[in-house]
Amino acid sequence: MTVNEARYILTVPRFQRAEAVANAVLADLGYPEPPIDLLRVADLLDCRVRYDTLRGPEGYTLRHHAQYFICVATDVDGYSPEVIRRKQNWTLGHELGHVLLHWDIPWNSTLDLERIPAELESVLEVEAHWCASRLLMPDYVFQSLDDVIPELLADKCGVNIAAATKRLKNLSWIVRERLQALTDLPLERVPAYFDFVGELPEKIWR
Ligand SMILES: [Zn+2]
Repeated sequence: MTVNEARYILTVPRFQRAEAVANAVLADLGYPEPPIDLLRVADLLDCRVRYDTLRGPEGYTLRHHAQYFICVATDVDGYSPEVIRRKQNWTLGHELGHVLLHWDIPWNSTLDLERIPAELESVLEVEAHWCASRLLMPDYVFQSLDDVIPELLADKCGVNIAAATKRLKNLSWIVRERLQALTDLPLERVPAYFDFVGELPEKIWR
């Protein structure tokens, strides 16, 4: 089969599928506490992970028979060690997303990957990012108002602030209801309130 055949004509990302697959993996691991150790996910999927100088890409995945090899770049410059560690963790989550979601496309060599049409590749990338986001910041980690502050969520889940901010823009209805019950302030205004007052807005019981 080639990636151009009908089953791989994807024009929109399958967000629900990406989330469901991430949730299934976390269920298998017993819903671990954040920060989620992605090396446990890699073990579960029988992926070998290596950290190496890649001179360009942040990471990539190759397959040899049933074995996946994920390589994560160590030559990530211009950031603090903690930011680099979190970027590498995100890259690992992204590559695990490809393994989980895109196991039925050719991965055997970089040449195979270059044959993937650009339009399809951009959809696959969005799906892998979505899966990484759900592996590292699943619905169940959102338990208190701390979790709607991007910096606090980022620290709790071991991700960078940009990833935490984006995740917070895509909270499910169930999570929103759970957190909104904790405060009278509209949820979107909690970070600004926290910045200004220095404490989280409590629920005012009347
Ligand atoms: Zn990718």
